[in-house]
Amino acid sequence: MKVLVINCGSSSLKYQLFDMTDESVLAKGLVERIGLPGSILIHRPGEGKVEIEAEIENHDKAIAMVLDALTDKNHGVVQSLDEIGACGHRVVHGGEAFSSSVAISPAVLEAIQANVELAPLHNPANIMGIEACTKLMPGTPQCAVFDTAFHQTMPAEAYIYALPYEYYEKYRIRRYGFHGTSHYYVSQRAYALLQNPQAKVITCHLGNGASVAAVNAGRSVDTSMGMTPLEGLVMGTRSGDLDPALIEFLMNKEQQSVSEVNDTLNKKSGVLGISGVSSDFRDIETAAGEGNERARLALDLFAHVVKKYIGAYTATMDGVDAIVFTAGLGENSASMRKQVCDGLRFLGILLDEEKNALRGTEIEITKPESKTKVFVIPTNEELVIARDTANLAV
Ligand code: AMP
Repeated sequence: MKVLVINCGSSSLKYQLFDMTDESVLAKGLVERIGLPGSILIHRPGEGKVEIEAEIENHDKAIAMVLDALTDKNHGVVQSLDEIGACGHRVVHGGEAFSSSVAISPAVLEAIQANVELAPLHNPANIMGIEACTKLMPGTPQCAVFDTAFHQTMPAEAYIYALPYEYYEKYRIRRYGFHGTSHYYVSQRAYALLQNPQAKVITCHLGNGASVAAVNAGRSVDTSMGMTPLEGLVMGTRSGDLDPALIEFLMNKEQQSVSEVNDTLNKKSGVLGISGVSSDFRDIETAAGEGNERARLALDLFAHVVKKYIGAYTATMDGVDAIVFTAGLGENSASMRKQVCDGLRFLGILLDEEKNALRGTEIEITKPESKTKVFVIPTNEELVIARDTANLAV
């Protein structure tokens, strides 16, 4: 079966077409600047690359262009859309309604809609993608794979906030956690490498958005992101954990509204806010290397918080067998991995510097005698979506 994986953002769309007979990627690409001037489709069939500039006013048009590109005489990879057996959609917020992937029905779509208030920036775009595919490929099964689903196994003491309990009951305020598809994929790979399905694993998804998860015997038991993806680690532009009292303080001092402060916490904080250089860790590492002290501070603070979560999850799981680094920074920055691991000598971690310097491959970066193993595992959320979709669509 061929499965089309769709990941819709508010103004962008990423896609991959899988051939599930061997899980190979036949084509992938992205549409950028949907509804904005300068919109473009970048389509990569195999090794090639095709760029199509056009007015792409909405997600319907974006999906139509993707389907055209996939079936095009010159750069297409299928003869007709009938060859695509199912579509899998990344959906950010499944709330408490979804603890696994599902085939989309009107009732499912309604439940995703009901979670818009929990993820106002993400779920509407995901819904637009689902609706566009349903319209353009009627009869093709559509499936939803949720960022939150993997974390639905968390126990109540990990997901309840210490607020009046009725807020949980009335408004569903609780920790949900995100990046679940990634934490699931890399933890599963770690179990395969450890050959121990009972292991305690801490997965560190360190990208522009960043989160840590505690995974015990395959189940997520805690994670750093909360009701929204703002909580937890310091991120590219997001503050992560802070004292909630400072919101009112800032509002008074800066004469800002709640939403302006919220905007600051989401878009102007994190390593961008601290360094004043960039939200991109490559730029910050370069600046720190050139002696920029705030860039150095941003990296030190980031590593400090990652360590803090690893320590906390080691305590709540009563041990850890393996730590996994993944996503843009986790997979690529040997210096950040070293900085985090150097501070974790109490776990008996012995880093193999040569292995840590390797890139782009799934690898154990600790020495054989290391008490806790550390892995770098490139994440593959699209493959999880494709697999779940293929399973649901048969
Ligand atoms: P992601 O959100 O997973 O795409 O990750 C994006 C983040 O990974 C950006 O902040 C990048 O700066 C960071 N990143 C990607 N490659 C590298 C690298 N070689 N060294 C340091 N950071 C990197």
